Amino acid sequence: MNYRQLGNTGLSVGEIALGCEGFLGKSRAEADEMFGIAFDGGINCMDMYSPNPDLQKLVGGAMSSRRKNFVLQSHLCTEWKDGQYRAMRDIKTVQSAFESSLKNYGTDYIDVGMIHYVDSLALWDKILNGGIADYALKLKKQGSIRHIGISSHNPEVALKAVESGIVEVLMFSVNPCYDLLPADEDCNTLWDENSYSKPLFNIEPSREKLYQTCQRLGVGIDVMKVFGGGDLLTENSPAGRALTPVQCIHYALTRPAVACVMSGVHSKKELLDSLAYETATEDERDFAEVFASFPKMSWRGHCMYCGHCAPCPKGIDIATVTKFLNLAKAQGEVPETVREHYAVLPAKAGDCIACGACEKRCPFGVFVIQNMADARKIFGK
Ligand code: SF4
Ligand code: SF4
Repeated sequence: MNYRQLGNTGLSVGEIALGCEGFLGKSRAEADEMFGIAFDGGINCMDMYSPNPDLQKLVGGAMSSRRKNFVLQSHLCTEWKDGQYRAMRDIKTVQSAFESSLKNYGTDYIDVGMIHYVDSLALWDKILNGGIADYALKLKKQGSIRHIGISSHNPEVALKAVESGIVEVLMFSVNPCYDLLPADEDCNTLWDENSYSKPLFNIEPSREKLYQTCQRLGVGIDVMKVFGGGDLLTENSPAGRALTPVQCIHYALTRPAVACVMSGVHSKKELLDSLAYETATEDERDFAEVFASFPKMSWRGHCMYCGHCAPCPKGIDIATVTKFLNLAKAQGEVPETVREHYAVLPAKAGDCIACGACEKRCPFGVFVIQNMADARKIFGK
């Protein structure tokens, strides 16, 4: 398993992490078998949006012998009522649900306390000014949660939260279909087939801005809905062609600021399919050709950081240089961390001899020579 830093939290998480939905309704033996495969594969992080007490106890038992090295992300603002999950914002209920969850997990802290499902600006305002943000900060101060996160499907709301300075981790829906759609307070638009009835072009600017802002501010993204609820893996995908789990995961993991994907696996096979990412070849990960063949979606002219343009005769890592260039352009200046990372690249944009070999290979028609010239100007070499 390859491990990545979760933003500036200091937490190191495996690229593949667990969602919890597939564990609901599993027997102890079934869940233990899944956890065994996950731990053997190097998974050290799990998201628990579900307040189901039985599941919390199951997860608590599974992680107890590895607590120090296990990153537990658990959600504030969900409760278990009448045998069902419910999102809620009443501060007293938020407090009692959190206290119960600690008991159920058998731990005295949560690594990432995730403020659950904030998709509207009005709700974010209520979180910020109605006591929930203060409660999360209090928990962080007393050590009951180590880091504060927020889960959202709406890039505009997520951006506000990230820019507030409170949020250290963002759980966000990232996949190549959702990334083309404009911000909306109703997340159902993401999986409504009408949203994909017209041709779509390139990543939606509010989403690109969100990812770049997270990268700049050191907010780590963990990804939900990497397979679009499974839709992207079938021929009925909004993209018009099926992707593999490995391609979906690679797309998410190559977006700026993304540290891991919360794979919502329901079976041993699905878990193994996700873990296969770690041993997949570059060809198996490569999504460029299938993306370029989508009937109604186009990323023409937009760098997907896919690396298809390699090799460069001057040794320039074109995908990385372009990622740094886009971060600097989005910011309007060169962030210090980006400047440092650029400085240690063995070959710089200034080494480009405009041979054009990369442009011939790029499936998305990116003007690499112009990008290298822009990067040389911005970074000075
Ligand atoms: S320039 Fe083209 S081939 Fe190279 S990383 Fe960007 S999209 Fe991929
Ligand atoms: S045009 Fe520049 S970046 Fe592209 S392959 Fe040639 S030298 Fe490398």
